[in-house]
Amino acid sequence: MSNDQYVFENPVTKYDDIKPTAQKQGGPGLDADLDNTPDRGETSYRGTGRLEGRKALITGGDSGIGAAVAIAYAREGADVAISYLPEEEEDAKGVVKLIEEAGRTAVALPGDITDAAFSRKLVADAVEGLGGLDILVNNAGKQQTQPDLLEITDEQFDETFKTNVYAMFWITKAALPHLAPGSSIINTSSIQAYSPSETLVDYASTKATINAFSKGLAQQLAPKGIRVNVVAPGPIWTPLQTAGGQPTEALPEFGEQTPLGRPGQPAELAPAYVFLASGESSYVIGETLNVNGGMPTP
Ligand code: NAD
Ligand code: MG
Repeated sequence: MSNDQYVFENPVTKYDDIKPTAQKQGGPGLDADLDNTPDRGETSYRGTGRLEGRKALITGGDSGIGAAVAIAYAREGADVAISYLPEEEEDAKGVVKLIEEAGRTAVALPGDITDAAFSRKLVADAVEGLGGLDILVNNAGKQQTQPDLLEITDEQFDETFKTNVYAMFWITKAALPHLAPGSSIINTSSIQAYSPSETLVDYASTKATINAFSKGLAQQLAPKGIRVNVVAPGPIWTPLQTAGGQPTEALPEFGEQTPLGRPGQPAELAPAYVFLASGESSYVIGETLNVNGGMPTP
């Protein structure tokens, strides 16, 4: 696990040492409180200057996938702003420290993105703190498992759409005037967009929406030199899953349904976000990069 991402090794057994256990967190959940610490690339991600001088805003950059992306971006040479909920300060502090240890500027922006005014302010504060913006990663998300539609409250439905869809719209809209040609927008979808679980009806719907939003917007912005792409993770070991994303008793089997037979680690997502942010992917637009352990997608 401490090897860097360029090591030749078997992806089946790569993370045998990290096994999800049955555990339950309240609120948004913290990486710091997970029984079995995920790999976010802290000891492994090696940058090669692929994002030198770039300026990135990552929502939900405090933990899980967003944290892995923040670490990778900083080590590739980008200054990074992360957004997160105030109760996630502990996780955020750790990520800020790692960004700074990479020699880059870190901007910490706590607040609730289900509030439109905050979402707009978030972008303004990121632009100010970074001195500009050319990468936007919409990664924050809410996922609450409910076995029965009758148990999905109007509040849950609303919050899930506000967090996953409305905030992406508000933040992207606010960011656009700042994005020069060459900039990248990367949205975070899910395998749930194509293979919705019966227990994640609201969440899966938001992820299908994110795919459609991104493919439409990608065509609109391509002539302006701004590329929009999507990363669609499969089952990844993060606090989202322990904070109501999955039934607690199902966690020990989490990810076993994939052809690799295990959950993914946040560190395994980061290179996809690096590729889609960097100029290496200049002809890649409106694409969904599936990082899901081998599950077939349309
Ligand atoms: P995570 O809990 O580490 O990250 C989600 C983040 O969203 C939180 O850290 C939090 O900061 C942010 N967030 C949630 N509600 C917010 C709000 N109201 N205001 C501000 N920030 C808010 O979990 P993760 O798994 O790394 O999730 C990142 C993204 O990946 C999400 O969009 C999720 O849907 C997606 N995803 C995850 C999986 C998986 O298996 N973990 C699979 C597919 C897609
Ligand atoms: Mg978090």
